[in-house]
Amino acid sequence: MNNKNLSSHKKSEPESNVLYIVGTPIGNLNDLSTRALNILKNVSLIACEDTRQTKKIMAKFEFTNNLISFNKHNSLKKIPRIINDLNSGKSIALVSDAGMPSICDPGEDLVKDVKKNGIKIICIPGPCAAITALVSSGLPSSKFTFEGFLPKKKLERARILLEISKNEKSTIIYESPHRLINLLSELKKFCGGQREIEVSRELTKIFEEHIGGGIDDVIKKLENREILGEITIVIKGRKNSNNLNDNDFSKIKEELIELVEAGLSLSSAAKYLAKKKNISKNQIYNLY
Ligand code: SAM
Repeated sequence: MNNKNLSSHKKSEPESNVLYIVGTPIGNLNDLSTRALNILKNVSLIACEDTRQTKKIMAKFEFTNNLISFNKHNSLKKIPRIINDLNSGKSIALVSDAGMPSICDPGEDLVKDVKKNGIKIICIPGPCAAITALVSSGLPSSKFTFEGFLPKKKLERARILLEISKNEKSTIIYESPHRLINLLSELKKFCGGQREIEVSRELTKIFEEHIGGGIDDVIKKLENREILGEITIVIKGRKNSNNLNDNDFSKIKEELIELVEAGLSLSSAAKYLAKKKNISKNQIYNLY
């Protein structure tokens, strides 16, 4: 690469005094949009989570630009400087290491403060692991909850897992590969082994893989293998009783009869099934 070539791109000037939030690839560099590329080439400077990651994009698309690091460790210090630069007429692009800035990545506080200062923001949308996993899962995708990484503190984690188990919408979670099996067993405990999920690994990359089915099946497929790469999980929402069909009700009736024949009182069996299936105790009594 020579420097003359690096700067000989066609100018498509970004606006002055604007913060551009730019989505970048989540693995496959070819997913960078033409618009994102133009902005990254032509802004006054790029605020990036890790300069080494952004340099990979610059090397692939053969351009250079001014980089400043902007991450969770230095954001408080850097925000006033970025706002000053924007006020003085610069155009700045905010990128994270991968995907959309501000989605489990730095950016939220900067965007909030930039807006507070009356400075214009333009988003150049790009890939996001959560949305990519959701739309490829085959699970209901028009209404969903995004939880990001679950909290590590036990109580808080249990509270969110309980919420997920009751949620009627699909839930999307980020998790690291070495904690995946542990998370799946927690999901099984809260949602039951039959709840449908899809684990997406290495989206947009060479070893992209989608492992779907009931939680029990997915655990079986994964427990004896090494799990590497980046992981996003989609969990199907709990069935709403209004969505249950005749077949579902006849299965519940069979379960009810089994429980009663095994010695459980009708009241306890109905209470248990009502909680498990998210329907009223009366609906269960009617089945009996
Ligand atoms: N800002 C990013 C986005 O828009 O998706 C997310 C950043 S978050 C720090 C990183 C997490 O996203 C990873 O630990 C993983 O859970 C998920 N992730 C990122 N890239 C992925 C990929 N290619 N395949 C599956 N999950 C991915």
